[in-house]
Amino acid sequence: MPETLNSTQPDIARLSASPQVRQAFAWIRAQEPQFAHWQLELASIPAPPFGESARGQWMLQCFRELGLEEVHHDEVGNVIGLRPGSGAHAIALSAHMDTVFPAGTPLNIRQQGTRLYGPGISDNGAGVAAMLAVAAALRSSKIRNCLPIVFIANVGEEGEGDLRGMRHIFAAAQWKDFIRYSLALDGAGADTIVAEARGSRRFEVIGRGPGGHSWSDFGAANPILILGRAMDSFARTPVPTTPKSTYNIGVIRGGTSVNSIPESASMRVDIRSTSMSEIDKLEAALRRSLEEAVMQEIRAVEARGLHPHRPSGVSSELILIGNRPAGELDANARILQVIRTVDAYLGNTAHVQRASTDANVPLSLGREAIAIGGGGAGGGAHTLQEWFDCAGRELGLKRILLSLLALAGVED
Ligand SMILES: [Zn+2]
Repeated sequence: MPETLNSTQPDIARLSASPQVRQAFAWIRAQEPQFAHWQLELASIPAPPFGESARGQWMLQCFRELGLEEVHHDEVGNVIGLRPGSGAHAIALSAHMDTVFPAGTPLNIRQQGTRLYGPGISDNGAGVAAMLAVAAALRSSKIRNCLPIVFIANVGEEGEGDLRGMRHIFAAAQWKDFIRYSLALDGAGADTIVAEARGSRRFEVIGRGPGGHSWSDFGAANPILILGRAMDSFARTPVPTTPKSTYNIGVIRGGTSVNSIPESASMRVDIRSTSMSEIDKLEAALRRSLEEAVMQEIRAVEARGLHPHRPSGVSSELILIGNRPAGELDANARILQVIRTVDAYLGNTAHVQRASTDANVPLSLGREAIAIGGGGAGGGAHTLQEWFDCAGRELGLKRILLSLLALAGVED
């Protein structure tokens, strides 16, 4: 049912004035030490990509202690808990558990005053702590949400995890048809609304040839020359500024010594856009550039005429090493109206951004989804110097709670 901004606005004021929501706010104000404690504890449990199970066990325990129902983990390791309601559709409140840090990274999680330090403390310690804080606030204030709320601590958001946790949720009919709105909590802050899913596709591009001695086999196909030609041609591909679309060749490798014709060479290519069709076009351009480069090198070998028996053995391969779907929230989407009205009510300034988050998955399916921060402030994401400042977390938590309840509706 479409609603205008004006009809949403009074809801937030009325919602905030209800005794239960005021009680939840008071509880949030008093519980900061508990939130910091959760955040330190969870960040102390390593959660490298594809290695989130120990942290998942901890989440399972938390969800149970917070009184969520049907608490379980699924086949890929997502931890799910339900706060039931009366509606036929649900709202997902999710936060990714995984970090970018490989197994064995020294964590050294610590607190100094209002600041917490250590890898993953903010991304996504802040998001997970906020999700737990909201679940606990709902419980302590005995708020009865109309639409059910599905709490999801998901795996595989970062890097080569490729959003596998969220993909799994939205591939299951049970969840895909049940979840109407998705609120992904990612990192610190309350000043952004990620409403455009920046998609990406990444490739390892490999060229192969027979190899040989630089002097005695001169003229044989050279994979480095193949990639060189492919790069030159691909880099001439025009890209639109709207929707913003980009490409990058970030890594090149190949060859063994200065006096050897290499047997192989490779490059890593990153393509990004908020439009799936632009991503498809860039992928097609990359494939075309590579095929043409191979053809040119075969012709060059033939023209050199020195290796009539060896222009074969030349091949190329394009391996998909990353794939995140793109999508965009409709400007009139209810979830956007709700968060904007909540921000106006709280006097909070936030900007709409495009990024790659767990919200990509529902957005790419045409569902209403945003990603927002867990409050407080943070920095140094994806570095060992990562930090989080708890000061001001309250605002971020109120923002999440009000948005969630405005979407879910509250029973009197
Ligand atoms: Zn994150």
